[in-house]
Amino acid sequence: MNEPILRVTGLQRSFVQGDVTIEVLRGIDLTVGKGEIIALLGPSGSGKSTLLQAVGLLEGGFAGSIEIAGKEAAKLDAHGRTLVRRDQLGFVYQFHHLLPDFNATENVVLPQLIKDKTRSEADDRAVALLTALGLGHRLTHRPSQLSGGEQQRVAVARALANRPALVLADEPTGNLDEATADIVLAEFLRLVRDEGSAALVATHNERIAAKMDRVVRLHEGRLA
Ligand code: ADP
Ligand code: MG
Repeated sequence: MNEPILRVTGLQRSFVQGDVTIEVLRGIDLTVGKGEIIALLGPSGSGKSTLLQAVGLLEGGFAGSIEIAGKEAAKLDAHGRTLVRRDQLGFVYQFHHLLPDFNATENVVLPQLIKDKTRSEADDRAVALLTALGLGHRLTHRPSQLSGGEQQRVAVARALANRPALVLADEPTGNLDEATADIVLAEFLRLVRDEGSAALVATHNERIAAKMDRVVRLHEGRLA
């Protein structure tokens, strides 16, 4: 395998609800190599989102080790985690979470401005990504003026804008009809490969998972 971009060891996460403790992750070990695209497959409720939130350094409260680009999450303060998210990670969700008052290009420009890029560099990058995703004719449309598939493509472009080493995608086509999902997923995978990023893609769909380089299955809190 390539040098790892992500190394997860013994990851555990449980939730306390009243007097019940649910152990969702019971010791996850997972290594993702640079440029590797991995499907995280499991039924609804199996802990996929919980795992991605931990790896995305969005949620604390876990035991075990998460190393991203050689940095141990537990040793980072809030600022350090923000820098890892900004410099190493990109996020795609089931629902696009685009900013409704900004057009497609602006939604892809914004995350770049927190990385001291000039407006014109950020614009060029946004237009290149959107065009590569077939949205060259939708650059100044707002999210509400775009179809579901187009909105999700903008979200993909936004996730890749800062050239993340690792893209975390949580059911990225889960809100699309099957035909659109297949097209958007193929474009997402092509772009991630072209960019040389790695990706960890959560899905409950076997057919979608089969399109990745490798499939890991989440079952009863462990990876099979
Ligand atoms: P998946 O993404 O695979 O559908 P999740 O990671 O969303 O699964 O959830 C896994 C389990 O953890 C579910 O039983 C869910 O109810 C529980 N869970 C997730 N987040 C929380 C939370 N913040 N508080 C309590 N329980 C949670
Ligand atoms: Mg989920």
